[in-house]
Amino acid sequence: MAEKHNPTRPMVGVTGGQAETRTPAHTRTPQGRPKNRPGEVIPNRKRILLIEDDAEIARLLEAELGEVGYEVDWAPSGMQGLVKLRESPPNLIILDLGLPDIDGAEIARRAKQNGDLPIIVLTATDAVERKVQLLLGGADDYLTKPFHPAELLARIQVQLRKSEGGEVRRVGALEIAVEARRVTHEGKEISLSPKEFALLELLSSRPGRVFSRDEIARHIWGHPLESNSNVVDVHVANLRAKLRDAGAYGYLRTVRGVGYALRQPKT
Ligand code: CA
Repeated sequence: MAEKHNPTRPMVGVTGGQAETRTPAHTRTPQGRPKNRPGEVIPNRKRILLIEDDAEIARLLEAELGEVGYEVDWAPSGMQGLVKLRESPPNLIILDLGLPDIDGAEIARRAKQNGDLPIIVLTATDAVERKVQLLLGGADDYLTKPFHPAELLARIQVQLRKSEGGEVRRVGALEIAVEARRVTHEGKEISLSPKEFALLELLSSRPGRVFSRDEIARHIWGHPLESNSNVVDVHVANLRAKLRDAGAYGYLRTVRGVGYALRQPKT
């Protein structure tokens, strides 16, 4: 992450107060971008609920996100976050994991009960197991502090685009955006051919169910297989290889003599 750091913009969440000395974005007048006048109505502004107990980080993010047109609602505790979540549901949540009152993971879990709201988690830990745990537990993405505001903005855009893009299926850390035809594992995009996507789309429609080669062939080509054709197996092997390359192991299950299933890998 360090190599992406742009020295002209400070990192967020740096300890030692560098971030605090910066002029807040709302007092700056960026060239060529007129400030919104008070009372001006901006159509369809996206609302972001920021649950973060560190006031300096919250102030900075509020300014950064406000500057690009997001409406930020700040909750300095988990309790207040849950209240705001209920009273005025946002389009996206930015959630600090280290909150004084409620564990961030618990908030993520409760937020997901109210529908498929994208959640980006801010975490101070770099531990891989913790991140995997977060993604499995319902977070859509995470950033490790310190991070650059531009990176957070990019991730917000990805999540909002995804949430507008129709149905998103989750199997373990695998996400299949059906209409957008995008597949990611732990947030990393996996590039599939149209036939591989069609295969994954079918299997993910009912995780755990075993689909026969004929069912798969009908879904992909619209007709059953020639006898002794191994074309389905070839596509399954290709899909399995691509999932593996992205670190997604154990998702495709072969049931000998029956067919294939997609399932959450055993941990
Ligand atoms: Ca914190």
